[in-house]
Amino acid sequence: VQQNSSRLTIAIQKSGRLSQASLALLEACGFRFSLHEAKLLAHCQNQPVDLLRVRDDDIPGLVMDGVVDLGLVGENVLEEVRLKRLATQLEAKFKLLRSLDYGQCRLAIALPKEVPYQGIQDLVGKRIATTYPYLLQNYLQRVGVAANTAVLTGSVEVAPRAGLADAICDLVSTGATLEANGLVEREVIFRSQAQLIQRTTPLSSAKQSIIDQLLPRIDGVQQARE
Ligand code: ATP
Ligand code: ZN
Repeated sequence: VQQNSSRLTIAIQKSGRLSQASLALLEACGFRFSLHEAKLLAHCQNQPVDLLRVRDDDIPGLVMDGVVDLGLVGENVLEEVRLKRLATQLEAKFKLLRSLDYGQCRLAIALPKEVPYQGIQDLVGKRIATTYPYLLQNYLQRVGVAANTAVLTGSVEVAPRAGLADAICDLVSTGATLEANGLVEREVIFRSQAQLIQRTTPLSSAKQSIIDQLLPRIDGVQQARE
């Protein structure tokens, strides 16, 4: 079973915005993988390391439950899962090893451009569609605004036009998607980039020594890119 494997297990996103950069980082650190598109697990050819390729949403929980040793995931997903687990009394601990230099984005509230907006109080009583209900509610509580949420796992940007919500709270990097949907960014609620996290339960000394080698290599790769 995974948990008892003597091989260091690293979870990365299978396919999406973080996949290429996560794999490229590990390869730049000297790990060689041969990936088979359909396979969940990929063995490293030159180290006792396995890659587990999953949906990004599953990565924080796998680390928090100690099912994998390391995970590379966006801070937005990490914090959403952490808040959700705290609310449901599940284990939510992890060790933050490094902030990584890719996956930069922000979670922002946007409204249709024709809707006047003076400030945050204009959100009172509105319905906001999002994939990140815990991050959104956490923010609304902090600023003291009572608004409703509608949870959508995809196509959040079309929710206002579809009459499902008054506003959205979604990830933005360039703003092109908002623009294309007639939305204007009004509040940034969370800034994110990829993170390397570790499970909190103790690791064998063999696994620990691989991590001890990996971290300075990551620092070297990232410094060279600065
Ligand atoms: P999965 O199938 O793994 O669940 P997904 O559709 O949830 O994939 P992606 O769109 O691939 O996720 O985004 C993965 C992560 O990339 C985001 O959670 C975020 O951390 C980061 N990211 C960076 N820029 C953006 C952006 N403009 N839009 C969405 N995510 C972004
Ligand atoms: Zn996802």
